[in-house]
Amino acid sequence: MIALRHDYHWHLNTKNYYYLAKVNYLFVTPPQFEPSYPSLAIPCLIAFLKKNGVERIIHKDLNVDSYNYFISNEYLEILVKKYRYHRKYKNIIKDTKSAKHQIRNNSVTPKEYAAAKERIISALELVSLDSEYFNLSFNNLTYKGIDVSEDSIEKIIADEHLNIYAVFFRKILDRSILMSSDVVCISINYETQLLPAITLARLVKKISDVKICAGGSYLTHLNDEILTLPYLFKYMDYIITGEGETPLYSLHQYLNNNKRIEEVENLYFIQGGIVRKSCKVSYEIVKELPTPDFKDIVFNKYFSPIKILPIYHSRGCYWNKCKFCSHTYSYSHYRTRSSQSVVNDIKKYKSKYDCQSFYFVDEALHPMQLESLSEMISDCKVRWGSQIRFEQEITRDLCINLKKSGYTNTLIGLESANDNILTLMGKGTNLKTIYQVIDNLYNAKINIWLMFFLGFPGESYNEAENTLNFIKNVQNKIVSTYGTGFVLTKNSYIHSHPDEYRVEIGKQNDYFILQVPFKSQQALTDEQIGVLLDIYRKKIASNLIDLVLSNSHGMFFSYYDFKQLSLLKTQKSDYE
Ligand code: SF4
Repeated sequence: MIALRHDYHWHLNTKNYYYLAKVNYLFVTPPQFEPSYPSLAIPCLIAFLKKNGVERIIHKDLNVDSYNYFISNEYLEILVKKYRYHRKYKNIIKDTKSAKHQIRNNSVTPKEYAAAKERIISALELVSLDSEYFNLSFNNLTYKGIDVSEDSIEKIIADEHLNIYAVFFRKILDRSILMSSDVVCISINYETQLLPAITLARLVKKISDVKICAGGSYLTHLNDEILTLPYLFKYMDYIITGEGETPLYSLHQYLNNNKRIEEVENLYFIQGGIVRKSCKVSYEIVKELPTPDFKDIVFNKYFSPIKILPIYHSRGCYWNKCKFCSHTYSYSHYRTRSSQSVVNDIKKYKSKYDCQSFYFVDEALHPMQLESLSEMISDCKVRWGSQIRFEQEITRDLCINLKKSGYTNTLIGLESANDNILTLMGKGTNLKTIYQVIDNLYNAKINIWLMFFLGFPGESYNEAENTLNFIKNVQNKIVSTYGTGFVLTKNSYIHSHPDEYRVEIGKQNDYFILQVPFKSQQALTDEQIGVLLDIYRKKIASNLIDLVLSNSHGMFFSYYDFKQLSLLKTQKSDYE
């Protein structure tokens, strides 16, 4: 049990007076992932704690702050001097300055936005050139030839000179906020946040005795390993997996001597040098959750011409049967709330933040949700977009109503254009439905973004080619595609049932990586996938909107309309 700052006082609750400690919570979104809009994770937690009377909360988005820091004039000036023999970066300071302005200008065209983003990517390239351990891009972070073992992590996070995140955190960490905080909560939802997050935790521990609690969907994927990873607790006191609302409030009660630590749901903690797991598990009742609170979010820091807010209708996936997918692992089962409560949130955000664009982070909105939202959102006069599945219920009329309600963009996992592979994947759709839905969306002038991958175990070379031919056939009706090779992920159905797919799981040396090595007699080789992806990039993707643009789904979901994006497409198909 920790000694908290016990300046207790009375708070007025609608029902009764209750006793509450003044515990300061500092919530941190660590680098690194796309900086176009704020993440939804921490605002959900803040709203829940506030609903339960916990008021003393601060939220810092260090992800967007890190981008602003690395491409600031001051930072780039030092690099330009150091790398003056690289002619490519001669004008980088001026170019980056205008690009930052352009990308935040609400009258920017898609073409200007793309050019600005290219210039920012060049600046990040220069930052990477100087970085010992990391390659930074607009929406990704990769490691420079290092594994992600405990030894490597330890070496990198302790290197306060060459680890650019250590330098960044030392510079911007507000000691006064830190010293007045009792708990720092770090949200780790992407693998790319792991090293920056541990770097941060180490520095925080170095300058204060604050408790550190980490959580998020990335850590949830390590559920099976955390008990055997005491290393994580070197810098973190608590790890919460799964949904964080109820566990975090329980932790608050524990820290105020009102609960035993074993009763804190979904919690891992260290006791007597051993990692322990509480025996209680919790899942939120989604329809009872409060409106996420974006307090402390400074919208003009984001790399976006307009304010975009993430919003949710449900947690988990209503389909939840795709054999390659592990997205819903963090949420367990599917739960939803009413479309009316979603629309109420949109109205609140519109009046509170003057936000006109919303991006649904649901794995896929159900056709019934699309139907009810299309009826209810119209009055709000906003733009919105989401992921959907190819379902027969996405009819012509529904698409027309969606468009009328402000629905501008949709992202869909095509994955493959072969009925037998779709069946093998458990996608629950077929080519006939896919063609029909694309037609309906296209005719309603809704922007379509497709994702696919090649090399699913059991897919032949010809079948992979079919998928590329399909994209070529529909290229005039879609805005862009995002194609990759198949990746076997931890906690997917195939990962736990490799025999069904004649997949042999390779030895994994590194528990922190969610991609699982595998061999399969039935899968395409890396070389074959490489050849096909090369064809895709050169002869198909080049007819669609540049990937530089399409990577930023959130941005385009709610901002540009069909006509604006169509203008960007060039028609120069020569793929046979
Ligand atoms: S791939 Fe999409 S639709 Fe399929 S289970 Fe995963 S989240 Fe659901």
